[in-house]
Amino acid sequence: MAAGVVTGGTLAVGGIGGATHRYGVQVDNVWELQVVTGEGKLETCSKIQNRDLFEAVLAGLGQCGIIVQATIKLIVADTKARVYLLFYNDLATLTRDQRLLINDERLKRFNYVEGQVVPNGNGGWRYMLEVASFYSSTTPNDNIMLAGLNYIRGTEQIEDKSYFDFLNRLADTVAFLKSIGVWSYPHPWLNLFVPGSAVESFVGKVVSTLTLANTGQGPILLYPVNTNRFGLPLFRVPTEEIVFLFAILRTAAPPEDAVVTRMLSDNRRLFEQNRDLGGYRYPVDAIPFSQKDWQQHFRPVWGKLVSAKRRYDPNNVLTPGQGIF
Ligand SMILES: Cc1cc2nc3c(=O)[nH]c(=O)nc-3n(C[C@H](O)[C@H](O)[C@H](O)COP(=O)(O)OP(=O)(O)OC[C@H]3O[C@@H](n4cnc5c(N)ncnc54)[C@H](O)[C@@H]3O)c2cc1C
Repeated sequence: MAAGVVTGGTLAVGGIGGATHRYGVQVDNVWELQVVTGEGKLETCSKIQNRDLFEAVLAGLGQCGIIVQATIKLIVADTKARVYLLFYNDLATLTRDQRLLINDERLKRFNYVEGQVVPNGNGGWRYMLEVASFYSSTTPNDNIMLAGLNYIRGTEQIEDKSYFDFLNRLADTVAFLKSIGVWSYPHPWLNLFVPGSAVESFVGKVVSTLTLANTGQGPILLYPVNTNRFGLPLFRVPTEEIVFLFAILRTAAPPEDAVVTRMLSDNRRLFEQNRDLGGYRYPVDAIPFSQKDWQQHFRPVWGKLVSAKRRYDPNNVLTPGQGIF
């Protein structure tokens, strides 16, 4: 357990990653918060103290309080990571393997499970499973780690890294994008939680018409999480046991208004298709959204959010830009 100032921005949305299948989202790992409410009061909250404020702030998009300190569960880190990149030609085989791995938790095979849609070099796409096993002394046995997985044999890339280098692996890419100016282009991202029952049809259809111009060469993430790990009411996901994060992390290239407008309208179209399948957006993205959309997004807990807003930020001082109230 550790206390300290953390990135309140991530706790205001959820905080998802490759370890979510095991530990839930970042907000599921918070013990206690110190929060400044819209009325300027400093409050301490947790599951057992001011629970309504705690649950209104975590994944609460900055509507009821500014997080100034968080106490978060930590575990002892290993020192190394064995990282596997495994490739697939078809989506159904990728998602079958991803489900197998996150359902296989009693074996605790991989600490980290993600996935991506990647260019296949011929103008189309293929799929990549990115998994990692953390260790300190005994190197994981590849035969055991890869047993039962149906990636294209011979395409696997396996590498040992220090734990820090694994966590920091995007630093060179970020430095490169900064050096060529692309980092500061607009990024009209699309982040969706797709119900597991619809992932092959929905994502398959999207990918069949997707081009590099649509993404601006940004990464496309696709990975599963178990919803039984989630416990915060404002973190909205489909009501299925397994849901997939599908994220098209677009770059508007060239950085022109027409490109941004086209990407935003594409985001809205795909959001609606996914919503009609029971899906949700993960609200770190760029989708034109009305108050009615927000009400629908928070529907079963909308009344609680309204009550908390009235109580903790009655003058709508905090983050009005989201357009929720
Ligand atoms: C390059 C990049 C990679 C990312 N990767 C991931 C990822 O792997 N997983 C993931 O889950 N997300 C990821 N994100 C999304 C990121 O977690 C969110 O955008 C997050 O909200 C950013 O925090 P911020 O401090 O920049 O918040 P801002 O953009 O400033 O604010 C976002 C929201 O958080 C609220 N907020 C900000 N600070 C506080 C606070 N102290 N208290 C209460 N509310 C607050 C704001 O009111 C607003 O509603 C990524 C974003 C980027 C740019």
